[in-house]
Order: sequence, then structure tokens, then C-alpha cells
Amino acid sequence: MNNSLIKQAGYINGQWCEAENGATITVTNPATGETLGQVPDMGILETRAAIDAASQALVSWRDVAPKERARLLRCWYDLIIEHKEDLARLMTLEQGKPLFETRGEVLYGASYIEWYAEEGKRAYGKVFAAPTADKRALSVQQPIGVVAAITPWNFPNAMITRKIGPALAAGCTIVVKPSEETPFSALALMALAEQAGIPAGVINMVTSSQAAAVGQVLTDDSRVRKLSFTGSTRVGKLLYGQSAATVKKLSLELGGNAPFIVFDDADLDAAVAGAVISKFRNAGQTCVCANRILVQDGIHDAFVARFKEAVEKLVVGNGLEDTSTLGPVINKAAVDKIASMVDKAQSEGASLVTGGRRHPAGELFFAPTILTNVTQSMEIARQEIFGPVAPVIRFKDDAEAIAIANDTPYGLAAYFFTESHSRIWKLAEALEYGMVGINEGILSNEIAPFGGVKESGLGREGSSQGLEDYMETKYLCMGGI
Ligand code: ADP
Repeated sequence: MNNSLIKQAGYINGQWCEAENGATITVTNPATGETLGQVPDMGILETRAAIDAASQALVSWRDVAPKERARLLRCWYDLIIEHKEDLARLMTLEQGKPLFETRGEVLYGASYIEWYAEEGKRAYGKVFAAPTADKRALSVQQPIGVVAAITPWNFPNAMITRKIGPALAAGCTIVVKPSEETPFSALALMALAEQAGIPAGVINMVTSSQAAAVGQVLTDDSRVRKLSFTGSTRVGKLLYGQSAATVKKLSLELGGNAPFIVFDDADLDAAVAGAVISKFRNAGQTCVCANRILVQDGIHDAFVARFKEAVEKLVVGNGLEDTSTLGPVINKAAVDKIASMVDKAQSEGASLVTGGRRHPAGELFFAPTILTNVTQSMEIARQEIFGPVAPVIRFKDDAEAIAIANDTPYGLAAYFFTESHSRIWKLAEALEYGMVGINEGILSNEIAPFGGVKESGLGREGSSQGLEDYMETKYLCMGGI
């Protein structure tokens, strides 16, 4: 691995730095428990310094021509692609997911930088029809200012690039606090941003285990005009509240409880393949993961039989081995929570089809699991599982499927499989979700607006909307014409 990518320091104002008090966080490999290294455990002081740096850098960065910002972003993108294998290996080491997934994530993450390098040149204002003969009315798009980003461990690369890409393209500067579980992937991106020539202070990264304290500094500071957060609904709500005092703009990508609905007329092969990828990628630890598999009466038994066959072919193991298709979960609290959810579901009447136990590959591995006879009232159908467990709920007709699917405070992603044209439209419109996969188990990419409704969040990442979320519209009213 290229050692210049392994950074055991934070990145503030173009400098690699330690925590003021010398404290560190130890990062471990979830597949083996081995220590990978240390990063600084920064706090209030360093977060303030990062905001100072971002504020100073804003003065010039917002005036850099969009074409030049695009050139720098493109250069960063090219470097990420050049180092994609090292970035993927580093991510598997600290996060656990198999190499085929981390290779995919590096490309997916990079695609946001490439897309926004292009899209930043297309931030158009508007000229309106004049309200009266002596006036003219127009609007311009301007960067919001300093942005704070707080990101999770499940996509250690892409959740960062899809915030930094549009922020920088729009002319904003940024302070990022990556997850304490996966800081190395984040810092490797900083090393490449530095090589690309992105000026000091434009991107700053504070590594910390004191998330609440860092979050408080970021939300209290009135120079931070926007907060972009991806993580749990619980923390998202806290940050939403904390942002009220300074009326920050917010992008919140929070939890989900995705229904994956299989109708009698579905293409069974496609539905099974979609369910496996949607449920089990990243060991079930994505916010858009199928959380409940709803299957219609007529196809239920055939689907479960085929699903079981496919799930039993998953190869559980260390993600660095090329044969592995299912890695560990992130930490002990996660594996304990999953085990207790599976036990509770069975005690509430669910039947175990396969799995249902910890896996001998290591302390943080859980066997891929299918439960049937699950009902919507069980805890496993109401909470985000974030593990390799597929609860199957049986339903009779479209109305029941829609009612079950929408019976949740979450509204991120939903999926359904059917060959009926009319059902496609009706379901697509009835599902209270920000994103709907139709005969498709994977839906995220840089060209599309990613985001949720209800308690799953605010704002969209990706697409032209992702850029607008980092810009303010300023109306110019010209009189005396
Ligand atoms: P997850 O369950 O995915 O770890 P969290 O919401 O706990 O989700 O974490 C997502 C990110 O939010 C991480 O970077 C974490 O350090 C950070 N975080 C956790 N608690 C807080 C908090 N009180 N304020 C600000 N950030 C927080």
C-alpha cells in the first residue's frame, strides 16, 4: 500500500496536525480485532481552529472561477482513481466490507467529485419578467459559506465525497468530522486533495471521539452556515435542534426502514437477486438496505425457498479475501444488538429459515439470517436492523402492502418487484419514500437525488439538486431603469 495515503493526523488549514493535548483514538480492524493505527482525538480547540481556517479560505475560494474549481476537483478525482485499489484495501481494513464492495464504493465516491466538477460550472441565475417598466428582477446563486459535515462509518469514502464535491464546486469551504470508526479512509482522501492542489483551509478534517462536543462547536458557530449530516435519526434530531439558534441550512440523511415488496407477478430471479444485494451488501449496514421483505401470498413460499438458497451461498469471511461476500459488522455493540433483535423476533413468533446466530469467522461476524412469519408489529419490523438479517412479512393485496410499507416514521428508500404497468405507477406514487427502486435493488448514483422524507431527513445529495443545497439564491431588484 502507498504509505503517503496513511495519515495518522488531522488536517487543518493545509497542515497535518496532532490533537492539542496529544490524545489519540485507536482504530481496529473489525474482521480481526487488530490495531491498525492511531489518529488524533481532537476536540473543541481544534474544531474552532478548523472553522477559523475554513472562514479565512472562504474569502478567496468563493471567488475562484467555477472553471478553476472544476479543474482542481477533476484533479482530485483523477488521483482517487489512480489510487483506487489502495483506498479500497484501506477501507476493507478499517470498515470490514469485502473488497468487491470497497472497490465499488471508491468509484461511487469518486463519481460525486467528477459530477460536481462538471455541475459547478452550471450554477445558473435567472432573469425574471420585469414587474413594472422601470424595474428589472434577477437572481444569482452564491455559495452558502462555511459548511460542516459529520459522516458515518458505513460508507467511509462516499459519504464524504458527496458532501465535499458539491460544497467545493459551489464555492463553499468545509470542516469534516468523519466517523471515529473509519478515519483512515477519510484522511487518505485529504492526502489526495492536498496532492491535487486544493488550497489550504478549503477542506479541513477533525478526527475525534468526542462527537457531541465537536458537534456542539460546529452548530453553535454562526460562521458555519450549513450542516450536512449522515447518520442516525437520533443524532440527526439533536443536530437539527442545535442548529436552530443560528438558523443553519441543513441536509440530513438519517435512518431508514426500507420495505422491499415482492408481488405475485414479479420476476422471481430478479426479485431474489435484488433482495440479496439490497439486504446483505455491507452486511446490512446501509441506510437504504431492505429492512422488511414483504412478499405476496401467492409467491411467498417460492420466494422464501429461492431466497434461502441464494443467502446460503454468501461467503462469510474477512473482506480482504477475494472469495468473501459478507464481512463483519462494525463493532461489538452492533453484533450484540443484532443477536438480541433476532432472539426477540423469534420469541414474538417469527420462524428461523437460516442463520440466526453469530458466525465462527470472528467476534463481529453474524450469519446471514432469514426470518419468516414476521408481522409489522414486531420490533424487528419497526427498528432499523443494520445487520445481515432479513425479516419476511406475508401480505395479501396491494392495499395491505402499501399500508405496511408506510407504517413507519422513516421514509428513505423503498423497493418493489412487479411486472404490472399499472401497479408500478400506483405503488411508485403511494409509497411515502424519497427513493423507490422498481424491479431494482440498488438505486444510488451521482446523477440522482438521494434523500428521504418524514424522519429520514432533509435535502438531497447527488444530481443538480445536490449543488443547489450548497447555494443561496440572492434576488437583485434593479430600479430606475
Ligand atoms: P451510527 O449509528 O451510524 O454510528 P451516529 O449518528 O451515531 O450513527 O454517527 C454518525 C456520525 O455522527 C459519526 O461521525 C458520529 O461520531 C457522529 N455523532 C454521534 N453523536 C453525535 C453528536 N451528539 N453530535 C454530533 N455528532 C455526533
